[in-house]
Amino acid sequence: MAKQEYLNFLDFTKGLYEKALRFLEPGSDDFSILSGAVLLTVGLEKFVKYVLYTRHPFMVLYNKIDGFEDVIKLEQGETFANCNTISFEVALERLVKLYPELSTEAKDIKYIIEKRNYLMHNFGYIEIGNLEKRIQTKIADMSEAICDKCLQKHPQEIFTKEIWNEMAMIREAYKNAEVLEIEKRIKHLKRLYSKGQSLPCEKVEISNEIVTIEFTCPICEDAADIGIKWEFDIDVDHREGTILGAWEIPYPMLIKCGCGFTMNDPEEIEIVLGDKYKELIDYCIAQKQEEPDFYDD
Ligand SMILES: [Zn+2]
Repeated sequence: MAKQEYLNFLDFTKGLYEKALRFLEPGSDDFSILSGAVLLTVGLEKFVKYVLYTRHPFMVLYNKIDGFEDVIKLEQGETFANCNTISFEVALERLVKLYPELSTEAKDIKYIIEKRNYLMHNFGYIEIGNLEKRIQTKIADMSEAICDKCLQKHPQEIFTKEIWNEMAMIREAYKNAEVLEIEKRIKHLKRLYSKGQSLPCEKVEISNEIVTIEFTCPICEDAADIGIKWEFDIDVDHREGTILGAWEIPYPMLIKCGCGFTMNDPEEIEIVLGDKYKELIDYCIAQKQEEPDFYDD
């Protein structure tokens, strides 16, 4: 069996995360943020490949594998360390195939990879604010999820206590700032509403496939619609490679109210719903069990 240490994927991750953190302290200038973003993204790419490679070296090889010859080489101790490896996108897809419970985190990482590619290969238009927020929160979320679901270890054990504590602290600071930002925005919208002015919210449409349920609008306190989308979640026994169960999970995707208030970022919606979020999810699931047709219109 090949020795995973040979490629040092994990050493890469640890080293790059450590360097990236120096650039990513809240309040850093744009180029520090961009430098940190690139380092952290490459670090995560190595981490995803580490998981695949540890599971089986063939999982990260770019070239088509010559089954018999390559199996013999592997048995003789070949590490394939000089071979090209797959792209980050493909590595991420493979990881989700092996660990479907990572699909939510992986979706956020896809956005980051897109921006990384854009940064490397295109001209300079980039929404740094949005990228910064996601880099600071989503890479920590994904790294933590990989440690937990794939490696069954605490992130401190993988990245060292210093690195992980700093990542977790920065993530916390950004999440808190996001909550404060939304609270501020809602106060502002309420003020406009009370003066009878129109609200500067994006126009959103609720398509026919989306089911809605009512929620008290944070602006006018009348009934607003929350659009719910159902997505599949699968539970897999990885050792046996069998699917233990599959079920649908409701995701609140957008809010639309007659007063003009809208929201279409699921994370922001989760923050706005606050304590009610779990209640709403449970309600949707219970409703669907009681009346399976209710949501299939
Ligand atoms: Zn309203």
